[in-house]
Amino acid sequence: MQKNILKKYLAYDGQVSVIVLDATDMVIEARKIHNLSNVATAALGRTLVVSTIMCSNFKDTTARLTVQIKGNGPLGNIVVCGDGTMNIKGYVTNPDVELPLNDKGKLDVKNAVGDGNLTVIKDIGLKEPYIGNSKLVSSEIAEDFAYYFVTSEQTPSVVSLGVNIGKDNKVQKACGYIIQPLPECDEKVIDVIESINLNISSVTSLMTDIENIDDVAKTITGDNNIELIDEKKPVYKCDCSDDRIQKTIIALGKKETLNTLNKNNGILEITCNFCNKIYRYDEKQINDIFNNQK
Ligand SMILES: [Zn+2]
Repeated sequence: MQKNILKKYLAYDGQVSVIVLDATDMVIEARKIHNLSNVATAALGRTLVVSTIMCSNFKDTTARLTVQIKGNGPLGNIVVCGDGTMNIKGYVTNPDVELPLNDKGKLDVKNAVGDGNLTVIKDIGLKEPYIGNSKLVSSEIAEDFAYYFVTSEQTPSVVSLGVNIGKDNKVQKACGYIIQPLPECDEKVIDVIESINLNISSVTSLMTDIENIDDVAKTITGDNNIELIDEKKPVYKCDCSDDRIQKTIIALGKKETLNTLNKNNGILEITCNFCNKIYRYDEKQINDIFNNQK
Protein backbone atom coordinates (compact mmCIF):
# COMPACT_ATOMS: atom_id res chain seq x y z
CA MET A 1 0.00 0.00 0.00
CA GLN A 2 1.45 3.35 -1.06
CA LYS A 3 1.09 6.09 1.52
CA ASN A 4 1.51 9.22 -0.55
CA ILE A 5 -0.13 12.34 0.77
CA LEU A 6 -1.04 15.64 -0.88
CA LYS A 7 -2.47 18.64 0.96
CA LYS A 8 -3.76 21.90 -0.43
CA TYR A 9 -3.92 25.14 1.52
CA LEU A 10 -4.73 28.80 1.21
CA ALA A 11 -2.30 31.16 2.92
CA TYR A 12 -2.47 34.86 3.80
CA ASP A 13 -6.28 34.96 3.93
CA GLY A 14 -6.77 33.33 0.54
CA GLN A 15 -4.12 35.31 -1.32
CA VAL A 16 -1.83 32.35 -1.97
CA SER A 17 -2.36 28.72 -3.01
CA VAL A 18 0.00 26.11 -1.53
CA ILE A 19 0.16 22.42 -2.45
CA VAL A 20 2.53 20.10 -0.58
CA LEU A 21 3.13 16.47 -1.58
CA ASP A 22 4.99 13.55 -0.06
CA ALA A 23 5.26 11.01 -2.90
CA THR A 24 8.00 8.81 -1.46
CA ASP A 25 6.06 5.56 -1.97
CA MET A 26 5.09 6.58 -5.51
CA VAL A 27 8.73 7.05 -6.49
CA ILE A 28 9.75 3.80 -4.74
CA GLU A 29 7.10 2.04 -6.84
CA ALA A 30 8.31 3.69 -10.08
CA ARG A 31 11.91 2.72 -9.27
CA LYS A 32 10.85 -0.89 -8.68
CA ILE A 33 8.71 -1.19 -11.85
CA HIS A 34 11.31 0.32 -14.18
CA ASN A 35 14.47 -0.74 -12.34
CA LEU A 36 15.54 2.91 -12.43
CA SER A 37 19.13 4.00 -11.89
CA ASN A 38 19.69 6.68 -9.24
CA VAL A 39 19.76 9.60 -11.65
CA ALA A 40 16.74 8.20 -13.54
CA THR A 41 14.92 7.92 -10.19
CA ALA A 42 15.65 11.58 -9.46
CA ALA A 43 14.59 12.78 -12.92
CA LEU A 44 11.42 10.70 -13.20
CA GLY A 45 10.68 11.18 -9.48
CA ARG A 46 10.79 14.98 -9.68
CA THR A 47 8.55 14.86 -12.77
CA LEU A 48 6.11 12.52 -11.00
CA VAL A 49 5.95 14.91 -8.03
CA VAL A 50 5.22 18.04 -10.07
CA SER A 51 2.71 16.20 -12.30
CA THR A 52 0.86 14.85 -9.27
CA ILE A 53 0.57 18.36 -7.86
CA MET A 54 -0.76 19.59 -11.23
CA CYS A 55 -3.35 16.76 -11.35
CA SER A 56 -4.67 17.80 -7.93
CA ASN A 57 -6.01 20.98 -9.55
CA PHE A 58 -8.36 19.03 -11.83
CA LYS A 59 -12.00 19.43 -10.82
CA ASP A 60 -13.16 16.45 -12.87
CA THR A 61 -11.98 12.88 -12.19
CA THR A 62 -11.92 12.15 -15.95
CA ALA A 63 -9.47 15.00 -16.69
CA ARG A 64 -6.06 13.80 -17.85
CA LEU A 65 -2.58 15.29 -17.76
CA THR A 66 0.40 14.30 -19.90
CA VAL A 67 3.85 15.75 -19.30
CA GLN A 68 6.65 15.10 -21.80
CA ILE A 69 10.22 16.20 -21.29
CA LYS A 70 12.22 15.70 -24.46
CA GLY A 71 15.90 16.30 -23.87
CA ASN A 72 19.00 15.37 -25.85
CA GLY A 73 20.73 13.76 -22.84
CA PRO A 74 21.35 10.02 -22.33
CA LEU A 75 18.13 9.54 -20.34
CA GLY A 76 16.00 10.13 -23.45
CA ASN A 77 12.43 11.28 -22.86
CA ILE A 78 10.55 11.50 -19.60
CA VAL A 79 6.80 10.91 -19.86
CA VAL A 80 4.29 11.16 -17.01
CA CYS A 81 0.51 10.76 -17.20
CA GLY A 82 -2.04 11.33 -14.49
CA ASP A 83 -5.73 11.97 -14.01
CA GLY A 84 -8.28 13.55 -11.73
CA THR A 85 -8.57 10.38 -9.64
CA MET A 86 -4.90 10.93 -8.72
CA ASN A 87 -3.58 7.81 -10.42
CA ILE A 88 -0.14 8.71 -11.78
CA LYS A 89 2.31 6.78 -13.96
CA GLY A 90 5.47 7.49 -15.92
CA TYR A 91 8.59 6.20 -17.62
CA VAL A 92 11.94 7.28 -19.03
CA THR A 93 13.40 6.03 -22.33
CA ASN A 94 16.67 4.78 -20.80
CA PRO A 95 16.08 3.84 -17.14
CA ASP A 96 19.56 2.41 -16.55
CA VAL A 97 21.62 5.54 -17.32
CA GLU A 98 24.17 6.32 -14.60
CA LEU A 99 26.26 9.50 -14.48
CA PRO A 100 28.92 10.67 -12.02
CA LEU A 101 27.64 13.02 -9.31
CA ASN A 102 27.80 16.71 -10.23
CA ASP A 103 30.25 19.20 -8.64
CA LYS A 104 27.83 19.71 -5.73
CA GLY A 105 27.83 15.97 -5.03
CA LYS A 106 24.24 15.64 -6.26
CA LEU A 107 22.67 13.34 -8.84
CA ASP A 108 23.31 14.95 -12.22
CA VAL A 109 19.76 15.28 -13.55
CA LYS A 110 20.77 18.25 -15.70
CA ASN A 111 23.20 16.29 -17.83
CA ALA A 112 21.05 13.15 -17.85
CA VAL A 113 18.16 15.15 -19.36
CA GLY A 114 20.15 17.55 -21.56
CA ASP A 115 18.72 20.47 -23.53
CA GLY A 116 15.24 20.31 -24.95
CA ASN A 117 11.59 21.04 -24.40
CA LEU A 118 8.79 20.52 -21.94
CA THR A 119 5.24 19.86 -23.14
CA VAL A 120 2.14 19.81 -20.96
CA ILE A 121 -1.14 18.43 -22.32
CA LYS A 122 -4.31 18.86 -20.27
CA ASP A 123 -7.45 17.12 -21.45
CA ILE A 124 -10.40 18.34 -19.40
CA GLY A 125 -13.07 17.06 -21.79
CA LEU A 126 -13.25 20.11 -24.04
CA LYS A 127 -13.18 19.76 -27.84
CA GLU A 128 -9.42 20.27 -27.96
CA PRO A 129 -6.93 19.54 -25.19
CA TYR A 130 -4.82 22.40 -23.84
CA ILE A 131 -1.19 22.09 -24.98
CA GLY A 132 1.57 24.20 -23.43
CA ASN A 133 5.20 24.23 -24.44
CA SER A 134 8.38 25.72 -23.08
CA LYS A 135 12.08 25.16 -23.41
CA LEU A 136 14.13 23.55 -20.66
CA VAL A 137 15.99 26.34 -18.84
CA SER A 138 18.03 24.25 -16.39
CA SER A 139 17.00 20.61 -17.04
CA GLU A 140 16.81 20.13 -13.26
CA ILE A 141 12.97 19.88 -13.64
CA ALA A 142 11.81 22.30 -10.89
CA GLU A 143 13.21 25.43 -12.59
CA ASP A 144 11.88 24.17 -15.90
CA PHE A 145 8.35 23.95 -14.52
CA ALA A 146 8.64 27.36 -12.82
CA TYR A 147 9.58 28.76 -16.24
CA TYR A 148 6.71 26.86 -17.86
CA PHE A 149 4.17 28.24 -15.34
CA VAL A 150 5.28 31.82 -16.01
CA THR A 151 5.54 31.60 -19.79
CA SER A 152 2.68 29.24 -20.66
CA GLU A 153 0.19 29.68 -17.82
CA GLN A 154 1.12 33.26 -16.82
CA THR A 155 1.42 32.13 -13.19
CA PRO A 156 4.62 32.95 -11.33
CA SER A 157 5.25 30.03 -9.00
CA VAL A 158 7.66 28.67 -6.44
CA VAL A 159 8.33 25.09 -7.54
CA SER A 160 10.40 22.87 -5.27
CA LEU A 161 10.94 19.19 -6.08
CA GLY A 162 13.29 16.63 -4.61
CA VAL A 163 14.23 12.96 -4.49
CA ASN A 164 16.74 11.82 -1.89
CA ILE A 165 18.44 8.45 -2.28
CA GLY A 166 20.28 7.26 0.81
CA LYS A 167 23.65 5.59 1.14
CA ASP A 168 21.78 2.27 1.26
CA ASN A 169 20.58 3.02 -2.31
CA LYS A 170 16.98 3.34 -1.19
CA VAL A 171 14.63 6.24 -1.87
CA GLN A 172 14.48 8.05 1.48
CA LYS A 173 12.21 10.90 0.45
CA ALA A 174 10.47 12.11 -2.70
CA CYS A 175 8.46 15.25 -2.25
CA GLY A 176 7.78 18.79 -3.35
CA TYR A 177 5.53 21.79 -3.28
CA ILE A 178 4.15 24.54 -5.48
CA ILE A 179 3.22 27.99 -4.17
CA GLN A 180 1.22 30.29 -6.44
CA PRO A 181 -0.14 33.77 -5.76
CA LEU A 182 -3.83 34.10 -6.58
CA PRO A 183 -5.15 37.17 -8.44
CA GLU A 184 -4.86 40.36 -6.36
CA CYS A 185 -2.21 38.92 -4.09
CA ASP A 186 -0.30 41.65 -2.21
CA GLU A 187 3.23 42.19 -3.61
CA LYS A 188 4.61 42.20 -0.05
CA VAL A 189 3.29 38.68 0.51
CA ILE A 190 5.05 37.52 -2.66
CA ASP A 191 8.30 39.12 -1.44
CA VAL A 192 8.06 37.37 1.93
CA ILE A 193 7.47 33.97 0.31
CA GLU A 194 10.28 34.48 -2.18
CA SER A 195 12.80 35.37 0.51
CA ILE A 196 11.79 32.38 2.67
CA ASN A 197 12.19 30.02 -0.29
CA LEU A 198 15.57 31.43 -1.31
CA ASN A 199 16.84 30.08 2.01
CA ILE A 200 15.44 26.58 1.58
CA SER A 201 18.15 24.63 -0.19
CA SER A 202 16.69 21.14 -0.01
CA VAL A 203 13.01 20.22 0.06
CA THR A 204 13.82 16.62 0.97
CA SER A 205 15.83 17.73 4.04
CA LEU A 206 13.06 20.15 5.01
CA MET A 207 10.36 17.49 4.75
CA THR A 208 12.51 14.91 6.53
CA ASP A 209 13.14 17.32 9.42
CA ILE A 210 9.53 18.51 9.58
CA GLU A 211 7.32 15.44 9.35
CA ASN A 212 3.97 17.17 9.70
CA ILE A 213 2.83 18.50 6.31
CA ASP A 214 0.80 21.31 7.88
CA ASP A 215 3.99 22.53 9.55
CA VAL A 216 5.84 22.32 6.21
CA ALA A 217 3.17 24.54 4.63
CA LYS A 218 3.52 27.05 7.48
CA THR A 219 7.32 27.07 7.18
CA ILE A 220 7.46 27.58 3.40
CA THR A 221 4.90 30.41 3.44
CA GLY A 222 5.68 32.08 6.76
CA ASP A 223 1.95 32.04 7.56
CA ASN A 224 0.91 30.23 10.73
CA ASN A 225 -2.80 30.64 9.92
CA ILE A 226 -2.90 28.63 6.72
CA GLU A 227 -6.25 27.06 5.85
CA LEU A 228 -6.37 23.40 4.77
CA ILE A 229 -8.77 23.12 1.80
CA ASP A 230 -8.19 19.65 0.36
CA GLU A 231 -6.37 16.41 0.95
CA LYS A 232 -5.69 13.59 -1.52
CA LYS A 233 -3.95 10.23 -1.62
CA PRO A 234 -2.27 9.90 -5.02
CA VAL A 235 -0.83 6.55 -6.14
CA TYR A 236 1.46 5.24 -8.84
CA LYS A 237 -0.95 3.10 -10.81
CA CYS A 238 -1.16 2.04 -14.44
CA ASP A 239 -4.63 1.87 -15.96
CA CYS A 240 -3.65 -0.02 -19.10
CA SER A 241 -6.10 -2.70 -20.21
CA ASP A 242 -6.80 -5.08 -23.06
CA ASP A 243 -9.38 -2.58 -24.27
CA ARG A 244 -6.90 0.30 -24.46
CA ILE A 245 -4.24 -1.84 -26.14
CA GLN A 246 -6.81 -2.97 -28.74
CA LYS A 247 -7.50 0.70 -29.53
CA THR A 248 -3.76 1.18 -30.10
CA ILE A 249 -3.73 -1.83 -32.43
CA ILE A 250 -6.64 -0.40 -34.43
CA ALA A 251 -4.80 2.93 -34.65
CA LEU A 252 -1.74 1.10 -36.04
CA GLY A 253 -3.86 -0.37 -38.84
CA LYS A 254 -4.48 -3.97 -39.88
CA LYS A 255 -1.72 -4.21 -42.50
CA GLU A 256 0.99 -2.85 -40.22
CA THR A 257 -0.17 -5.04 -37.34
CA LEU A 258 -0.19 -8.27 -39.39
CA ASN A 259 3.24 -7.41 -40.84
CA THR A 260 4.73 -7.03 -37.35
CA LEU A 261 3.09 -10.25 -36.23
CA ASN A 262 4.45 -12.24 -39.19
CA LYS A 263 7.98 -11.13 -38.32
CA ASN A 264 7.52 -12.34 -34.75
CA ASN A 265 6.43 -16.01 -35.04
CA GLY A 266 2.79 -15.07 -35.52
CA ILE A 267 2.46 -13.26 -32.22
CA LEU A 268 2.06 -9.51 -31.76
CA GLU A 269 3.60 -8.38 -28.48
CA ILE A 270 2.88 -4.98 -27.02
CA THR A 271 4.56 -3.92 -23.78
CA CYS A 272 2.97 -1.17 -21.70
CA ASN A 273 5.60 1.56 -21.23
CA PHE A 274 4.22 2.52 -17.84
CA CYS A 275 4.03 -0.85 -16.04
CA ASN A 276 5.89 -3.25 -18.39
CA LYS A 277 2.89 -5.58 -18.65
CA ILE A 278 3.09 -7.59 -21.90
CA TYR A 279 0.00 -8.06 -24.06
CA ARG A 280 0.09 -10.85 -26.70
CA TYR A 281 -2.21 -11.40 -29.69
CA ASP A 282 -2.18 -14.09 -32.38
CA GLU A 283 -3.46 -13.70 -35.94
CA LYS A 284 -7.00 -14.87 -35.15
CA GLN A 285 -7.28 -12.40 -32.27
CA ILE A 286 -5.97 -9.56 -34.46
CA ASN A 287 -8.53 -10.39 -37.15
CA ASP A 288 -11.27 -10.46 -34.52
CA ILE A 289 -10.18 -7.05 -33.21
CA PHE A 290 -10.43 -5.51 -36.69
CA ASN A 291 -13.68 -7.34 -37.55
CA ASN A 292 -15.36 -6.33 -34.30
CA GLN A 293 -14.19 -2.71 -34.17
CA LYS A 294 -16.94 -0.21 -33.55
ZN1 LIG B 1 0.37 -0.54 -17.96
